[in-house]
Amino acid sequence: MIPFNAPPVVGTELEYMQSAMESGKLCGDGGFTRRCQQWMEQRFGSKKVLLTPSCTASLEMAALLIDIQPGDEVIMPSYTFVSTANAFVLRGAKIVFVDVRPDTMNIDETRIEAAITDKTRAIVPVHYAGVPCEMDVIMALAKKHQLYVIEDAAQGVMSTWKGRALGSIGHIGCFSFHETKNYTAGGEGGATLINDEALAERAEIIREKGTNRSQFFRGQVDKYTWRDIGSSYLMSDLQAAYLWAQLEAATRVNQQRLALWQRYYEALQPIAASGRISLPALPPHCQHNAHMFYIKLRDGEDRAALIEWLKEAEILAVFHYIPLHSSPAGERFGRFDGEDRYTTAESERLLRLPLFYNLSENNQSTVINSLLSFFA
Ligand SMILES: *Cc1c(COP(=O)(O)O)cnc(C)c1O
Repeated sequence: MIPFNAPPVVGTELEYMQSAMESGKLCGDGGFTRRCQQWMEQRFGSKKVLLTPSCTASLEMAALLIDIQPGDEVIMPSYTFVSTANAFVLRGAKIVFVDVRPDTMNIDETRIEAAITDKTRAIVPVHYAGVPCEMDVIMALAKKHQLYVIEDAAQGVMSTWKGRALGSIGHIGCFSFHETKNYTAGGEGGATLINDEALAERAEIIREKGTNRSQFFRGQVDKYTWRDIGSSYLMSDLQAAYLWAQLEAATRVNQQRLALWQRYYEALQPIAASGRISLPALPPHCQHNAHMFYIKLRDGEDRAALIEWLKEAEILAVFHYIPLHSSPAGERFGRFDGEDRYTTAESERLLRLPLFYNLSENNQSTVINSLLSFFA
């Protein structure tokens, strides 16, 4: 059986986890956490990076940090994971969904302004498949209307837009280190990138249960106290040790994924030329991270037939994201602004193929051959 995904393993994880266990400190903000955070601050050019238990937790932190209140509105695509919306719904916000662009499946930046009202507080671009949203348009709109931009860069670690790392462009960026993403912190994990310096101090406090314990550990205050609302948004240092192994190998992992992605792209070109499928688009001035390789079939029926065909060849290919606005909670907590021209229709045609760091060339060939024979 060729799985759809396998958690990345680079080889040094156990050694670092052993060393974390021997350090006498396994809770959050240990040595491996510091190393990961500093590495990301330098590599991605973010003012402050904080490891968290998940991207879900990072998005929740972001909603707390920008003080989302009941009745506020937050703009995002409907074609995304539930956490993008939940984080803001938990604070009482109303979600305003905007259509996606069919080429990248990212929020259509030309339709955001029409969705802005006097209640709008933030725009949440989701970099689908690690392919950047049009950040210059989004940042200019945010400036004009005094809104925050929270990047959901769960899939975007190591991608760049005009040379800048995804997650480092908005006021806050959120990464995921879940096992289905390009790098993992032993199954679950995330990071919050604080790019607006004005938010940095409060971010630490919210993450440390509402206390200024981080300042206390740096010797900046002589005792720590309850300062604000907060929760526990720290990652265990044992997980940070696993993540450190992966970050050290980040360039190698990225290159390997890009090579697998390119191989799919070239092998499937003839089928795309025949009009049976379409292949993902990469806008100019973007460097993606090969988070995902998807194809689009003619319709849902064609997709179901291909999934069945691959399953018989013991290959798992999956689709995802029932658009949030058409789900029960989405109907309750959100509204779709403008016309749903692409979100529903395009999501029904999209199929993701197996792509992960440890996918062997042989197994990828099996997937490619099975696809070629389906379309033959
Ligand atoms: C994976 C993902 C998340 C959630 O990440 P977790 O680390 O599992 O909480 C959020 N948004 C998007 C777009 C994702 O792909």
